[in-house]
Amino acid sequence: MIKKKIEDALNEQINAEMWSAYLYLSMSLHFEHEGRPGIANWFRVQFQEEQAHALALMDYLNARDARVVLQPVAGVPTEWESPKAAFEDTLAHEKKVTALINNLYAMAEAEKDFATRQKLNTFVAEQVEEEDNVRQIIDDLNLVGTDGTGLYQIDRQLAGRTYVAPVL
Ligand code: MG
Repeated sequence: MIKKKIEDALNEQINAEMWSAYLYLSMSLHFEHEGRPGIANWFRVQFQEEQAHALALMDYLNARDARVVLQPVAGVPTEWESPKAAFEDTLAHEKKVTALINNLYAMAEAEKDFATRQKLNTFVAEQVEEEDNVRQIIDDLNLVGTDGTGLYQIDRQLAGRTYVAPVL
């Protein structure tokens, strides 16, 4: 039986992943409206990934015979002044998520819940990738600055991202 403390913490993480999904969906819709379909596509894939994170934790709680309790998902911003602003918000958000995952991992270890700790390994690795990908895009955006052709090329490049279900 999973400890109540761990069950509650995993339910909170599910809510955080759903909020992340909602945030990236909002960014996707914003950039679709702004005529940046490639950036919109990138955030749409990001939205799908976050849903997969949430579902993986729900499946895990079910597998441990625990209860998944869905809580309201808080509101998200709806506008960003530039692609760079959105990707900087994304990086800041992913750093927060990394801290949440690290705290969960430490709790699982302290509570000697080794199954949960092992489940979180893939999430730890996933966060390294998330932050790295976003940092690369910010670097590219910094290189082109406000150059329209450069921004167009980045948009075209991000149009190529396709959703691959993460193995969690
Ligand atoms: Mg996530």
